[in-house]
Amino acid sequence: MNAAFTTGKELQKMDPVFGQLSFDDHEQIVFCNDKDTGLKAIIGIHNSVMGPALGGTRMYNYANEWEALNDVLRLSRGMTFKAAITGLNIGGGKAVIIGDAKTQKTPELMRKFGEFVHSLSGRYITAEDVGMETKDMDIVRDVTPYVTGISEERGGSGNPSPVTAYGVYLGMKAAAKQQFGSDVLSGKKILVQGIGHVGETLVDYLTKEGALVTIADINEEKLNEVGAKYQAQIFRGDDLYSADVDIYAPCAMGATLNDTTVYKIKAKVIAGAANNQLADENVHGAILQERGILYAPDFLINAGGIINVYAELAHYDKAEIMRKTENIYNTTLEIFDFALANKITPHHAALTIAQNRINQRKLENSKK
Ligand code: NAD
Repeated sequence: MNAAFTTGKELQKMDPVFGQLSFDDHEQIVFCNDKDTGLKAIIGIHNSVMGPALGGTRMYNYANEWEALNDVLRLSRGMTFKAAITGLNIGGGKAVIIGDAKTQKTPELMRKFGEFVHSLSGRYITAEDVGMETKDMDIVRDVTPYVTGISEERGGSGNPSPVTAYGVYLGMKAAAKQQFGSDVLSGKKILVQGIGHVGETLVDYLTKEGALVTIADINEEKLNEVGAKYQAQIFRGDDLYSADVDIYAPCAMGATLNDTTVYKIKAKVIAGAANNQLADENVHGAILQERGILYAPDFLINAGGIINVYAELAHYDKAEIMRKTENIYNTTLEIFDFALANKITPHHAALTIAQNRINQRKLENSKK
């Protein structure tokens, strides 16, 4: 899965940071190193026009530092557009910690990471991502206020993943309406790849609606547990991407829509939680469109989590958060319409609208 983080092209350019193909005028990239705890992290602040950069921290066993750098560049950029398309007054940022979250994550390491976050004086606010738990954010909270997604006991809102899953579910329904003429998922064959924090809750929504859910994960124990709990079928074939399903929901890692997979996919709808599903947004979205596959932009439909943690920064009102997350349904339909009207992919439609909002805000800021 490691190779999924890059298209391969990024690594060909040799200029260390600003020359990376996934570098997109990021404002600030901070390399964090601490010998005592073994911390090696990179914080990426892509854009702060709309507000301080908010985005989770991912801990992953990257094959090398280039992979980690490209991941943080891509992820932080995605956060900028996610916040803008969702109408939140925050910018885009993200952090990655290089290492195995199961064996190398210690309280000391998380504390040190929190100190680095603090050193940015609020320009970057962190939260959970893959490899992180609410308890890790609580440790970060011990050393900095610039963290969200902390536990309810500590005055936070806990794990944002259930809200993310709700938004993905609604985005998927909107995509089904557009593609199949009805948003009813009952009887639809849906493959959920990755049944972690978000994926499992998504499986819950889908099975409750009567969808025929197949699950895939690299964690065998989790597969058996979730399979039994929701009576979901477990994918056992060799080639997940050729699976005969109506909807494919990528909920594991990014770049699963790449040169190898886009031609295999039989699903007519792709709607999932994973960030940066398109390995190359200028190439793979168009191929999917040519093949008649409707792709619901990831950064649009997986925004429930950021809506949730954003609310933690000001006034946390669960009912209001769920209402905002429900907007994802209508926004997704609007994006599909905009894409059709402008003969562009849904991904580019969402990017265009988000970029217009950022440009508008930049103009307003310059007049202040
Ligand atoms: P998680 O770590 O809880 O779950 C990820 C799951 O994917 C794990 O069960 C893991 O075993 C599995 N997995 C990893 N590689 C796999 C592979 N090659 N094939 C199949 N399964 C694989 O993460 P999560 O919080 O559920 O997030 C899932 C995705 O959604 C991530 O890409 C994350 O960035 C994105 N996302 C999450 C949130 C959130 O609120 N948690 C918000 C927005 C986006």
